[in-house]
Amino acid sequence: MEIPDHPVVEIDLSAIASNWQNACHVFRGAHLGAVLKNDAYGLGASRIAPCLVELGCRNFWVAQFAEGVALREILGAEQSRIYVLHGSGRHSLHDHAAHGLIPVLACLDEVLLASAEASRLGERYRVAIHLDTGLSRLGLDRTQVEVLVEQPHRLDGLIVDAWVTQLMRFDDPRSAECFDQRERFIRWTELLPRADRSLAASTALFTDSSWHFDHARIGSALFGVETAPGFLRNYRPAVTLTAPVLRVQSVPAGTQVGYSGMFKTTAPAMLATLAIGYGDGLPVSLANQGQVFIGGIAAPIVGGISMGLITIDVTRCEPNLVRAGTRAEIYGRHQPLHQLAQAAGISPNALLVPTASLATRVYHTAIAELSQGNEA
Ligand SMILES: *Cc1c(COP(=O)(O)O)cnc(C)c1O
Repeated sequence: MEIPDHPVVEIDLSAIASNWQNACHVFRGAHLGAVLKNDAYGLGASRIAPCLVELGCRNFWVAQFAEGVALREILGAEQSRIYVLHGSGRHSLHDHAAHGLIPVLACLDEVLLASAEASRLGERYRVAIHLDTGLSRLGLDRTQVEVLVEQPHRLDGLIVDAWVTQLMRFDDPRSAECFDQRERFIRWTELLPRADRSLAASTALFTDSSWHFDHARIGSALFGVETAPGFLRNYRPAVTLTAPVLRVQSVPAGTQVGYSGMFKTTAPAMLATLAIGYGDGLPVSLANQGQVFIGGIAAPIVGGISMGLITIDVTRCEPNLVRAGTRAEIYGRHQPLHQLAQAAGISPNALLVPTASLATRVYHTAIAELSQGNEA
């Protein structure tokens, strides 16, 4: 295969499978769902969803209607459920049902419209309903919940599959705000018609079972992304991003590097230019921050982040390991994603999604090989 002259993201499907199995092992509720929004966090839902189905995953969560339609094409009409997190929006309940999608209704208006459509067409529609317990983003607030409690006929024609809420400090379920939200969620759903309750994302799943409820929705934990330090257990990193060296150059002390001379060498140095930049999703806040790895050795980022280029200091690297065409690891085996994200001052997924979405994807390890591996 020709060596690509641009960023490549390598996705280890067997690591994702192992992370799924690990999460199943931890989860005490009834349904564990996989969140595949934004094309599976940039990693490609069309390759990841079938692997998860093979492992027994039957519940999928996406953000938008169009993503749901595409995922239904991939999964076929069989048993799986696909939830659309952003609500029904401008799509009718009939359209959702036609594609086998369950909207997570995002406000009281959506609930009323859905019920009206059901009564108009003499149908019953399966929906989930989002409750805003504190994030102030999507869902019914307290007064809207009271409307449903006092006027249960507002739900006529709707089969409520799940009550859904999301923690405002998803990266820290032990915070007081999260306890408040959980308390509110329990109180509200006790007053509402009985349905599965869904609160936990990855961190809550790995906190303890008091956060699990009936249906958990996990993304980051599947892809081996640590959204909070140290919460994941027994996980395998699944993603590696690399970019090729275009040029290596030795420079004297006092050399200005990059636009505006954002960096100046203080000693003779060996610099390498990499074919990756903000156009490939690399955050500009990595200017003079963080490092990448070449041949297992850390190479600091020096100067600014250009559209398609960065410069790294490879003075400490083995000279014959760094030449044009050598691939540097941006994140992956030597440097976890969250470490580079921290250097950039952003969350790990804010680094993963754009970089993975824009890179050429290469998948490792077919699911068939995995099951053999498991038997060994
Ligand atoms: C993204 C998202 C999730 C998954 O979160 P992770 O921390 O990646 O597991 C779950 N629920 C909602 C509503 C989300 O937006």
